[in-house]
Amino acid sequence: MAPLIDIHCHLDVFEARGELDALLETARTQGIGTFVTSGTDPRAWNLNATAARRHRDLKLSVGWHPLYLTSWNTGMLEELHSFCRQNEVVLLGEIGLDRSKHSPPRELQEYSLLDQLDLAEALALPVLFHGRNAFGPLLELLEQRGPLRHGGVLHAYSGSPEQLPRFAALGCRFSFSGSSTWPTNLRAQANLAAVPLDRLLLETDAPDMPPASRKGLECRPEDLRETALRVAEHRGLSLSELTAQVQRNVEALLP
Ligand SMILES: [Zn+2]
Repeated sequence: MAPLIDIHCHLDVFEARGELDALLETARTQGIGTFVTSGTDPRAWNLNATAARRHRDLKLSVGWHPLYLTSWNTGMLEELHSFCRQNEVVLLGEIGLDRSKHSPPRELQEYSLLDQLDLAEALALPVLFHGRNAFGPLLELLEQRGPLRHGGVLHAYSGSPEQLPRFAALGCRFSFSGSSTWPTNLRAQANLAAVPLDRLLLETDAPDMPPASRKGLECRPEDLRETALRVAEHRGLSLSELTAQVQRNVEALLP
């Protein structure tokens, strides 16, 4: 069977606690073969890079996460650029917009996103987007700016099914996390039914967004298997058909 690929997780959290090696070993026994770990700030970028030097199945995604911005300046962009030059990075992100309650000012988020989108193009990298409570404004911003030259992923997609084709026309793919397996998450179920199979990706967002059986607990890398099983069931596929499809989709996305 093709290995399962986690397109978005935050393994730096486990690395910082000295727990990562054991967790990865367990996840591998559950069929997970690639982990794209996303750092939200320079400390996290570096923790992930350290872990990736020990584990060949880790790939790096880096960006300035909109939720943690307190300012934005060219020095921050340059720091990201220089990290990308010195490390093997496969995705620029997570970057994007967040309209939850205490998120940073909208303008700050937008400047940071636009600058980082330019950087992704200069580096010929695909982008990984965060869009909590903001898929509508994100779609507008991207439509104004034009299609993504190297494609992108909407992590934990929770826009509407109607927005799917508009995002797809911009070059986006759609990633589903453990929260899409919660029986109460009707929007995720509608999106899972509507997403074209060649645009579908899977993630844990570990340590966030655990699948149904671990709701309320910390999500672990191995939990991708439960999400994959539920998504396969939802689309009437076997687990091996789904993992093979996801593998093709990841290969089409990553450099
Ligand atoms: Zn995340």
